[in-house]
Amino acid sequence: MTELSGLQIFKYLPAATKTEHTNCKECGCPTCMAFALKLAKHNIDIEKCKYAPKNLKEIYEKNAKQPQKTIDIKGVKIGGENVLYRHEKTFINKTAIAVIVDMANPDWENKLKKIKDFEFVRINEHLKIDLIITKNGTLPETVSYDEFKKLPLIEIVDEDFSKTSEELIKIREKAILEKDENFSNPTFVYFNHSNNLDLLCAKASYYLCKYANMLVFEDFNEGLITTLMTLRQNIFTDPQQPLQVESKIYEFNNPDENSLIFMTTNFALTFFAVANELESLPVPSYLIVTPAEGMSVLTAWSAEKFTAKMVAQTLKNFDFANKVKNRKIIIPGLLAHMKDELQEEIKDFEIIVGTIDAFAIGDFVKNMSY
Ligand code: SF4
Repeated sequence: MTELSGLQIFKYLPAATKTEHTNCKECGCPTCMAFALKLAKHNIDIEKCKYAPKNLKEIYEKNAKQPQKTIDIKGVKIGGENVLYRHEKTFINKTAIAVIVDMANPDWENKLKKIKDFEFVRINEHLKIDLIITKNGTLPETVSYDEFKKLPLIEIVDEDFSKTSEELIKIREKAILEKDENFSNPTFVYFNHSNNLDLLCAKASYYLCKYANMLVFEDFNEGLITTLMTLRQNIFTDPQQPLQVESKIYEFNNPDENSLIFMTTNFALTFFAVANELESLPVPSYLIVTPAEGMSVLTAWSAEKFTAKMVAQTLKNFDFANKVKNRKIIIPGLLAHMKDELQEEIKDFEIIVGTIDAFAIGDFVKNMSY
């Protein structure tokens, strides 16, 4: 059961049921339809309409309830989801990843250090373990297992894959579709020690997608966690908000005025793919990132967010022609059809068509004369 739309609400109101008080304005809205639309967005109290029937109130209140609770564990929020699929709206809180540190284990300090030291950056995000849960002792900035067990969470111990996955799906569907309070607490899956890392990774990846709010591991394995965090970043981005980086000139390996010059848009995934390649080139380079509302090069071109005039303006804004002596700009291969148009607008530089794929930049540079 999803939230009621304005039209669904309107059907219960006097203007639709053709009863007394139609469009009486007592609620402060000019019409019953205006009231219904406001109510659907939770911008007015249902009690403002004294003539709303009891069954509308019951249905509205049931639908307006938050389907899944949000739980805050030492600043890590989990739950609070409203949809089953990201494209319906967005996911709210990403699946948290926690690791157990058993202080009765003689090697616990070593494990704790490894967990704390673990950090990597992907698409501008610093990724690290969300929560450390201690057993047989307490430590600052961690949560003890006893405290953790008292939280209003639904625990599922991973044993059988199909049983665990079915349970996770059932709980989320009951919470979202039926708003069943018995299933409104966030879930966590507990993974006991396992020697089968491949299976562990496959299962945890599935549960991360559907629908664990938290994964708790007894083991700490950097490869496993890196894989899961990369997957998580892909799942939990907001589809309504393109991932973008700042539009500016990026420098790789200390470029000077004669260094290579590349160009792309500010779509984060393209930027990082290209940046990785430029970083590993044996020669220094610049990367001019144009503002394109976070769109990839072809999307930006088709949406007129990457036009020859815009590119020329970007170069002018950066005063780039006065900063370098190199007069060649390498554009993405996907924009080969724009070469003449760009050349027409950009008189200070020669436009060179580069590669379609970022991974081919290394070979392209090896074979180019500059
Ligand atoms: Fe319609 Fe109720 Fe508002 Fe009157 S008070 S206009 S009946 S919604």
